[in-house]
Formats: sequence, structure tokens, C-alpha cells
Amino acid sequence: MKISFHKETYEARILDPSEGFEEKKLVVEVRTDPFTGAKARILKHRWRLPKGSFDQSIISKSKQKCPFCPENIEKMTPKFPSDIVAEGRINHGQSTVIPNAFPYSRYNGVIIVSKDHFLSLDRFSPEILYDGFQASLLYINQIRQFDDKVAYASVNWNYMPSAGGGIIHPHWQIVVDNKPTRFHERLLSQSLKYHMAEGRNYWADLISLEKEKKVRYAFQVGKVVFIAAYAPRGMLGEVIAIFERARTLDEVGQDGWRDFSRGLSEVLACLHGMGIDSLNMALITNLDNAGHFWAQARIIARASVPPLGTSDVNYFEKVHEEIIAVISPEELAERLRLACAGNLK
Ligand SMILES: [Zn+2]
Repeated sequence: MKISFHKETYEARILDPSEGFEEKKLVVEVRTDPFTGAKARILKHRWRLPKGSFDQSIISKSKQKCPFCPENIEKMTPKFPSDIVAEGRINHGQSTVIPNAFPYSRYNGVIIVSKDHFLSLDRFSPEILYDGFQASLLYINQIRQFDDKVAYASVNWNYMPSAGGGIIHPHWQIVVDNKPTRFHERLLSQSLKYHMAEGRNYWADLISLEKEKKVRYAFQVGKVVFIAAYAPRGMLGEVIAIFERARTLDEVGQDGWRDFSRGLSEVLACLHGMGIDSLNMALITNLDNAGHFWAQARIIARASVPPLGTSDVNYFEKVHEEIIAVISPEELAERLRLACAGNLK
């Protein structure tokens, strides 16, 4: 079970009205990553920068009754029962942890990440992100003390309405559970399969391969490596941040959180520079069950497609479970490398 990526390339022919009906060949590249099961169709000819993907007036409108603004948290947000969190809510730096008012798992905390109602992606400093992760850890560890059966935790982010965010104010959702999600489960079982077949760690081998090829490798901050996924699961690509040798949440360590916060801040600023202000992120970790998996985050930029504000999710993704991507992973990695050059020394 070696690391193998598959690619097929097709040409579609059209007579182009903008070129006097000259014949034009358009290339479609279909990529499969057997490890994740992801299949993506890379259409470089579709790429347009998403120039202002949201209506700015929603920021002031949504601020009027925002439960996550500091003056409203006390009266408008729920509290944890005292046997879970004695003080009802957890405060850490800029962050506050509350229970999700609309939970989708037994233990589902919300981290209100900033005091500011809105931050564009270039304004998430490493310090803000680090505080948020520390608050996330306080919540996860509180749940671990309360319930010794929990084994998996994720920090999840829908930022802005284009990415499914129902509240503008920056916030993350933490899920702590005794079962992994479907994607986490796939990564765990594939990591085990790879280890049994090759006697090595898949994530170490993936990092070596990408560093050697130098086309999808973006950069490294300390022990966290940022690469673009070969077969992305989003129209604007997918960034993978792998915490080297961190098999469990505890093995990430304070350095790991600092490194990740610095790298993530750079990725967010780079996306902002590309005209993107919306994303999904999931940081996936094992708690006690180390296995052959390394903690990692998946960052998928989201956008409404101009000029109609069309959704970036279509029948290919919803029904066929394939992704139409308009930027190649190699171009995304190059943009990340260029944007970060000099900032991470
Ligand atoms: Zn707010």
C-alpha cells in the first residue's frame, strides 16, 4: 500500500463564440487520492478570484443582536451545568467557552474566539488563534475529566455565511466524543492499514514525499507542516496542516499550538489576499487512543461565485461526491509559499 495518487486528463472541445467560433480545447484533470477516497476535477480554466464574496452590510446588521459580542454573552448565551463546568462558562484571554445552544453531539462547546464582532481573515493574529486553542483545550480537558469514555476531539470552524456560518462573530465549535466522525474514522483505518502494509507512518511518508516533490508543500512552522491536498475537497482547494509525531492531543504540546497558530495565521492572511474571507476548518485529534494517526487540521476555503453569488457546492459534490476545483493544489501551495516568504523566518 504505497502512497499513490492517480490522475487522468481529458480534453473537451468547443467552438468558442468569443474567438469567432474557433475550436478551443479545454483540459479537465480528474484526480483521485485512494487514501482519503477524495476525487476532484481540476478545472484551471474556470478560476476567477472571488472579489468580495459577501455583502459588507451584514456585518453591522448582524452586530445589532449578536449574542457573542462581549456585552451580550452574559445574558444571551447558555451556560454549562455546574457538574461539567463549575463556573458555567470558561474565559481564557480573548476567548469564552459556552455550550452550543443547538448541539449536534453530547459534548459540543462553542469558543467565542475574539472580542471583535468581525475579523477579516488577515486579522486573525497568532495570539488570537493561540488563545482560542488554549480555551479549546480547557474545555476538552474538562470533558475528559467528566467522562472517561471520550476518545476523539475536533475544533471546527464555519467562517462566514458562504461556509455555513450562522453567526458572523468569530467562533469555533468543539466536538468531544467516544466515536470519530466518518472522515476521521477513514483516516484512522487507512493509517493503520498503511502501517500494517509498509511498517511505517503514513503521515511521515506523506510529508517526506511532498517535501521532495516541492509542488504541494507550502511551508513548515516548527513541528507543523502545511501542504495542499492532492485531491482537494473544496472548490478553492484544501490545506492540510500536520502536527509531526503528535499521535494524541497531549502530544501536540504548547510548542505545537504556537507553531500551528503562526502557520494558520499566515494561511488565513494568504486566503484574504486571494479575495477569500470564508472557510471551513476542522482540527482532528485522538485523545488517548494513539494509533498511527497524527493530529491535523483541514482548511477548505469557501466562496460564493461571482457575479450571482452562486454556491460553490453543486451537484457534483452533493450527489456524486466529487469536487469541482478551480485552482490546482500546486498553484495554491505556490501562493501560500509566496505569501509567507519572509514572514516565517
Ligand atoms: Zn458579535
